[in-house]
Amino acid sequence: MAAQVLVVGSANVDLAVKAERRPQGGETVLGADTEVLPGGKGANTAVAAAKLGADVALVGAVGDDSFGTLLLESLRDSGVRADHVRTVDRPTGVAYITVTPDGENSILVSPGANRALCPEAVAAALPGARVLVASMEVPLSTVEHALVSAKEAGVRTVLNLSPVAEVAEQALSGLDVLLVNQHEAAWLLGAEPVDAMRLLELGPKAAVVTKGASGAVVVTGEGSSEIRAPKVEAVDTTGAGDAFAGAFSTALARGANIVDAATSGVKVATMSVRRRGAQPSYPNAAELE
Ligand code: ADP
Repeated sequence: MAAQVLVVGSANVDLAVKAERRPQGGETVLGADTEVLPGGKGANTAVAAAKLGADVALVGAVGDDSFGTLLLESLRDSGVRADHVRTVDRPTGVAYITVTPDGENSILVSPGANRALCPEAVAAALPGARVLVASMEVPLSTVEHALVSAKEAGVRTVLNLSPVAEVAEQALSGLDVLLVNQHEAAWLLGAEPVDAMRLLELGPKAAVVTKGASGAVVVTGEGSSEIRAPKVEAVDTTGAGDAFAGAFSTALARGANIVDAATSGVKVATMSVRRRGAQPSYPNAAELE
């Protein structure tokens, strides 16, 4: 049986250290104990979907090392199918995160195995999927291939263009949904404030722009809809966009229209910012009730 939601994206181990300040060039700073957490945009999106009860598989790559084992175990524990996560001959991706008292993160990502995620990995996972959602911490050629072959197979496509990058016209035209935050939208349009409607000129049938505490806007050929986020005390917004992507794709796979799917995305992402961490902060279906 194929998974209904197919996520194509990265899996990283996040190594987070709190420190009074971030080290300058040539300097050594002593920090607190290291926190080791599963992360990466692809894995986060897949876990957000699985927690809502979606049948979800990640197409990704990890290394043949202890971090790779940790990621595979954490995916399976969260209910994500990991049979399309390949073990490759490169180290598992790692994000080195320094957290300072002002709450600001600086992050150095070593993509490692994620760079070895090849286009062929997608084909085997595609048959039977309802929605494919791709994000950008893996090779661009793999993402472009995934979108084009999903379209050919009649699978709905969502591109979470994060981190933002130039994407082939062929991959954007015919894309069902382009999903970006405000900064990514501004980069794509080369203009601020963002006129979300103009994103449709890039080729997708619909676009969703997430707007942090303000929620999200959905644009289609028929017009635009604003979705407001409930007011909450934001404790940690790490992985909020990935939570949105997971919940949005789950709702689409279950037959929701784009506005209802984005409403679910806002609800889940807003709940996630009230708790610490990325994956541990995502709500399950019961909490959402
Ligand atoms: P990203 O995490 O990709 O930068 P956003 O900051 O737009 O994307 O956040 C994605 C979603 O997370 C928003 O649409 C909203 O639902 C939720 N969210 C993010 N920040 C907040 C906040 N401060 N308060 C409430 N919800 C938030």
